[in-house]
Amino acid sequence: MTEATAPVMPAPAPIVNPENKPFWDATVEGRLVLPKCQNCGSINWYPRVFCPECGKFGVDWIDAAGTGTIYTFAITRRGMGAYGKAGPYVLAYVELDEGPRIMTNIVDCDVDSINIGDKVRVVFHDTGSGSALPRFTPVS
Ligand SMILES: [Zn+2]
Repeated sequence: MTEATAPVMPAPAPIVNPENKPFWDATVEGRLVLPKCQNCGSINWYPRVFCPECGKFGVDWIDAAGTGTIYTFAITRRGMGAYGKAGPYVLAYVELDEGPRIMTNIVDCDVDSINIGDKVRVVFHDTGSGSALPRFTPVS
């Protein structure tokens, strides 16, 4: 009898454009940055140079703590396509300590032990294309 192999979590490369490049460049350095509006101070998700709160252009890229709380999640038992061998895996919304809620994966965990409200911290999965995907792991 052979042991089951660990699930393989793909890290597909994102589409990088001039608006979100500062975000993706930081991920390669292991930093999670967020756009903070220069006009109203709102910290926004997703990464862009336009503020959806006040309608102005211009943001400062601030370093996030990289910690947050699981807002909600689903367990995918059987993935499809590139994620065909990744299951079971957790798709979640994590509420960052700075406020934004981001869709992500919870990794390096027992998927059946995840709960809403669990504290998590960011980890980065290199895409091999000049970016890394921010995913989260439980803080014990
Ligand atoms: Zn604003």
